[in-house]
Amino acid sequence: MTDHLAAATALLSRSPLIDGHNDLAWQLRELAGADAARTDIAEPLSFTNTDLPRLAQGRLGAQFWSVFVPVTLAGEAAVATTLEQIDFVRGMVRRYPDALELALTAADVERICASGKVASLLGAEGGHSIASSLGVLRMFYQLGVRYMTLTHNRNTGWADSATDQPDVGGLSDFGRDVVTEMQRIGMLVDLSHVAPATMADALGTARAPVIFSHSSALALCDHPRNVPDEILARLPANNGVCMVTFVPQFVSQECRDWDRGVQAEMERRGMDREDFQGYKALRAELAVASPPPRATIAQVADHIEHVREAVLSLPSHYREVVVLCDLQEMSYDEAAAALNCAIGTVRSRLHRARTLLAAKLFDLRQTQTNSAARSRGSN
Ligand SMILES: [Zn+2]
Repeated sequence: MTDHLAAATALLSRSPLIDGHNDLAWQLRELAGADAARTDIAEPLSFTNTDLPRLAQGRLGAQFWSVFVPVTLAGEAAVATTLEQIDFVRGMVRRYPDALELALTAADVERICASGKVASLLGAEGGHSIASSLGVLRMFYQLGVRYMTLTHNRNTGWADSATDQPDVGGLSDFGRDVVTEMQRIGMLVDLSHVAPATMADALGTARAPVIFSHSSALALCDHPRNVPDEILARLPANNGVCMVTFVPQFVSQECRDWDRGVQAEMERRGMDREDFQGYKALRAELAVASPPPRATIAQVADHIEHVREAVLSLPSHYREVVVLCDLQEMSYDEAAAALNCAIGTVRSRLHRARTLLAAKLFDLRQTQTNSAARSRGSN
């Protein structure tokens, strides 16, 4: 265990850990309302998974703070509440200048990580936040929002959600305009929460890499929030990223099946499925008679490995970096100049390429060992 911890610590000192999704802002708003800003996150907090001591202990390099608002808010109310959440996160970052700093560019992330602070990015969770307005989208960008998840738990009218009935069958024409405009202004398109048809349409429209900010692999756990293999297989061509989540019912099939029982009971009692407080209370009530199973870290690792398998092919720009740095023994500076990109980009691509190559070689060796064992067995 200590060896694993030492290896993880060494890895984190070389490559910054970037967390794609953190709901602290909404959690504080729900728990403390107008007093949210008075909660001191520099102290250990018992009611949430996040506080500054734990971010430091986990060696977090960068955090996308979600400016999520529920889908029960629509139109101008959704826009206004998202603005309040942006204001809250920006205020929180200002209150802890020794620990957090607002990041607006990739260069900001590299600089802030190197300074030992947590690079703080903003992500909007759900297209309902822009009330079908590209103007609102552009103004969110101006305020620092650097990704938007196309939907939350319900359809937006221009994009179908994974947890709603099919409506437009993926993205509508306006939905495609949203993707194009986001990528034009430099905002990441986040495909967590969206229906597979929306994922496919967005990948068909995208001219820049997309992300999944918090989704696991559908092949290992059949929650509709997870990503199907045929979509994962399209990520290498797009250079997209799938960031695996730790949510138990996305990671463990047993937890998913137990949670399905809670959902069914909510439906039976006529509860709104967006009633998150009611859902939590019902979970606690049902857990008395039938305690929920626990997801494990090993299961999370299985999802990471499955996603890695699906994206194993090496994109061409990684190959370029490997050839320049490893085979021609160029320095990072020289490779950056040759490829006309930042040194940080060379470093991160080289690191990713080496990881992918190492994984590929390991798999190859496993296959050879297995087939050697099989042919020995048949002799
Ligand atoms: Zn979410």
